[in-house]
Amino acid sequence: MLGLMQQWPLLCHKILDHAARQHGDREVVSRSVEGPIVRTTYAGIRARALKVAQRLEREGRKPGDRIATLGWNTARHLEAWYGAMGMGGVYHTLNPRLFPDQIAWIMNHAEDKVLFTDLTFMPLVEKIAPSVASLKRVIVLTDGAHMPETGLRDVVAYEDWLAEADGDFEWRGFDENTAAGMCYTSGTTGDPKGVVYSHRSNVLHAMIASMPDAMGISSRDTILPVVPMFHANAWGLAQSGPMIGAKLVMPGGKMDGASIYELLDTEKVTFTAAVPTVWLMLLQYLEETGKKLPHLKKVVIGGSACPRAMTEKFQNNYDVQVIHAWGMTEMSPLGSLGTLKPAYADLKGAAQLDLQEKQGHAPFGVEMKVTDDGNRELPWDGKTFGRLKVRGPAVAASYYGGDGAEQFDEDDWFDTGDVAHIDPQGYMQITDRAKDVIKSGGEWISTIDLENLAVGHPEIAEAAVIGIAHPKWDERPLLVVVKKPGKDPSRDAILDYMKGRCAKWWLPDDVAFVEEIPHTATGKIQKTTLREQFRDYRLPTA
Ligand code: AMP
Repeated sequence: MLGLMQQWPLLCHKILDHAARQHGDREVVSRSVEGPIVRTTYAGIRARALKVAQRLEREGRKPGDRIATLGWNTARHLEAWYGAMGMGGVYHTLNPRLFPDQIAWIMNHAEDKVLFTDLTFMPLVEKIAPSVASLKRVIVLTDGAHMPETGLRDVVAYEDWLAEADGDFEWRGFDENTAAGMCYTSGTTGDPKGVVYSHRSNVLHAMIASMPDAMGISSRDTILPVVPMFHANAWGLAQSGPMIGAKLVMPGGKMDGASIYELLDTEKVTFTAAVPTVWLMLLQYLEETGKKLPHLKKVVIGGSACPRAMTEKFQNNYDVQVIHAWGMTEMSPLGSLGTLKPAYADLKGAAQLDLQEKQGHAPFGVEMKVTDDGNRELPWDGKTFGRLKVRGPAVAASYYGGDGAEQFDEDDWFDTGDVAHIDPQGYMQITDRAKDVIKSGGEWISTIDLENLAVGHPEIAEAAVIGIAHPKWDERPLLVVVKKPGKDPSRDAILDYMKGRCAKWWLPDDVAFVEEIPHTATGKIQKTTLREQFRDYRLPTA
């Protein structure tokens, strides 16, 4: 027997319709790429997104066409996304921090037809556009007055292009499983792989992300998504924000401490989210200036492990609650969040910080397990670690074009490539990437645990741990360190600091000092490059 309820397909443009109707005058504020702060509302965004859809159709774009965006977080970028989705197109975010050749490769793989770009990226677009055969049109997210000189063909200023539409358009109707968006994984090894979100998965993810024990956001919040739309959908905030009717503050291209502080302060932001690197810059700025964060209530930190010292500073010095989160492009991206369940609600001080080092628990809609190499499920005891596998309605079922099929099994479990343990309360802790974990004498050493420990040292700015070949143990850890400006900790002082804070056999065999640690385009430590750099390194214990 079937239920007798309505079919109401979960389509992304319904999010914007709802926002415009129920929260129409709620503001969307952007730091524009041209410079000034500009203001619109959800009603304004919807009106212009309709024009985007109408205008795309008028120049021959069809449902399923990939519409690329190379843009910072701004209202115009939102309009382009919703407009593309509303005519059945597929937004495709490109990460400008990738090499031009990689971006061109990705665009060709996705066969992008249109590219919306910010002014910032025009030199990059001039390099790559001629090598993307499918590309028909470049739309620069600016007005005629700011259009740069360019030798490219088929280029137009967004405002001029949009002015040719009157917005008399109805969103197209289609199945909720229709593709809505695309994002390629950063791919530290091998070619990038395309994740294809559906309307249904985006809508469900936005609902999941907003729940009280996930991000816990509401119409009363003012949200600053510092995490870029090109990094896994701004962690869903471009959809959760309008769904719940929160005010949105879009930071444009400026993510330094002073610029982020200015928005937090003047717009009275209550909720924000980004990777640890961004928060390092903000905290440094606050320390230098003595400024405070009177409006901010919550910060979500993820993308890489949130250092304990960062959580401590936000909570103790600024009274801002930290939610440590974990996720992946393949998961839309949220997988777990470290909000406090009743069993842990009374934890205080160091005990609470211990818990917050974990990446948190899975919300409804994310199933999780850890397995050994033989795919046997491991116990949730908070210490046995293994491969982390996930499934759910906003988790990829395959990659675009069938790439990377080995990561998916027949029961839909997706192998995240992360190594983790889960405690009896369901709190998961990432201990490594499967390819980074150090195998010493048949046992595993977590490089992330060691890195977190090392950055707790007051004179260390950043730390990375890699495995170095060892004749007896197979591999042993080498700690690579960037010193804080003006500080000069010694090798022995660092190792002494770590002694007693980790298992004896985990202690790095040596410390190497570097000026800089290489990062990927999404801000993670690039261990492949680091391993290459230290390929011929001989440990003193070898
Ligand atoms: P991306 O798809 O670029 O967001 O990368 C996803 C990967 O980032 C995950 O598989 C993890 O390895 C890593 N990651 C994300 N969040 C965290 C976190 N909170 N702690 C540790 N690693 C993380």
